[in-house]
Amino acid sequence: MTDAVREAEEFLATNWSRSRDANEWRRLVVDARWAALRWPSEWFGRDLPDDEAKDVEAVFREHGAPGPGQDVANLWAGTMLAYGSDELKARFMRPLLLDEVAMCLLYSEPGAGSDLAGIRTTAVRDGDEWVVNGQKVWTSGARDADYGMLIARTDWDQPKHRGITFFWLPMRQPGVDVRPLRQATGDARFNEVFITDARVSDTHRLGDLNKGWWVLQTALAYERMVMGVSRRGGGAAPRGATAAAHGSIPTPDIVLTTLARQMGKYDDPAIRQRLMRLHCKRVVNDLNTERAKAVAQAGGSSPLASLGKLAMAMILHEAGHLEGELLGAAATLDGDEFERSRDHNYSQLNAYFFSIGGGTDQIQRNIIGERILGLPKEPEVDRDVPFREVRGGGATIA
Ligand SMILES: Cc1cc2nc3c(=O)[nH]c(=O)nc-3n(C[C@H](O)[C@H](O)[C@H](O)COP(=O)(O)OP(=O)(O)OC[C@H]3O[C@@H](n4cnc5c(N)ncnc54)[C@H](O)[C@@H]3O)c2cc1C
Repeated sequence: MTDAVREAEEFLATNWSRSRDANEWRRLVVDARWAALRWPSEWFGRDLPDDEAKDVEAVFREHGAPGPGQDVANLWAGTMLAYGSDELKARFMRPLLLDEVAMCLLYSEPGAGSDLAGIRTTAVRDGDEWVVNGQKVWTSGARDADYGMLIARTDWDQPKHRGITFFWLPMRQPGVDVRPLRQATGDARFNEVFITDARVSDTHRLGDLNKGWWVLQTALAYERMVMGVSRRGGGAAPRGATAAAHGSIPTPDIVLTTLARQMGKYDDPAIRQRLMRLHCKRVVNDLNTERAKAVAQAGGSSPLASLGKLAMAMILHEAGHLEGELLGAAATLDGDEFERSRDHNYSQLNAYFFSIGGGTDQIQRNIIGERILGLPKEPEVDRDVPFREVRGGGATIA
């Protein structure tokens, strides 16, 4: 037994009970540095190597105590840790870990989704501040957000990936106008965000000027990793925009095995085979995610996270079809009086979140092809051309 495991046992024996107030427990866990075990001790971590961290997480799970796992699941604090100045970290790390700051991701634009490097939202320096103009879209959670992680073009004369800077934009200011969009599920969790002469201090820049593309890779890797993980309670739930968009991610094989029993279809060999296939895919994906976490801990943004996210999208679509079959004709019903089939319809539509949000399935396949399988890169004729001269980039804003 390692020192950390022994200490965790003692901490839980002294402090944990299932009746504890959730917020109070969260504060205790964060301040006692159990929430992000792999992070440096000065920023709420314990500098633990991955295998020791896993042992400690297992101890918390055995006690049924939530708390650890934010070093993998909290994309806001993770990005801040990697690229924020010490002043920003001192101000935001703890509130982020305590979920006291609401955040959103200001990446996608009407003309830049899969091709994110084609963004046209522009930040222009004005003394110690930047003035931001442009439009973002599909921004989950923007209505309630205090801050947005913003990518904006700061140099139109650089090729498209190299003229982008990453900011921590205050959302509650006159230049930020958020308008909700209705989704296929009926929710209106994502939004259009119109930005007109909004201001952000240069102290709220993450990473170097014009190096935002690399900050973005870290943030995207966190997001994809969260989306690739299945959960059975315990551990830190996905947070902020990611959570707002999909809630907690289920282990559909287990949920559907219970449903098969309830519907009297558990002994049907064809159903059993499909349940088993789903189970195997989910377990293999969980193992893959462990690999991705280990790489991320070593400071890399791993393409393995793309593999996990793609696999999770496929698992959820497959689970949706199987659930429909288990429910039978009742699956066609909807509305509050048909709770089970209403939830089924919701989750089947929501599975598309996993196929689109955080980069589409096709884009994950491109990443896997190029960066894992070593296939030739997709042709990119505008890669080295100043963005001002790129067709569709254009200089209409700059
Ligand atoms: C539920 C949800 C929540 C979201 N939340 C956020 C958020 O909080 N913040 C944010 O910034 N964005 C968010 N998004 C936006 C999301 O990241 C984009 O929708 C996504 O990256 C795709 O961009 P697009 O919609 O512009 O589609 P496009 O890029 O126009 O793609 C259209 C189609 O073409 C395919 N395609 C495009 N390029 C290629 C290529 N090179 N190779 C193969 N196929 C290609 C795509 O796979 C897709 O099928 C969210 C989306 C959803 C669905």
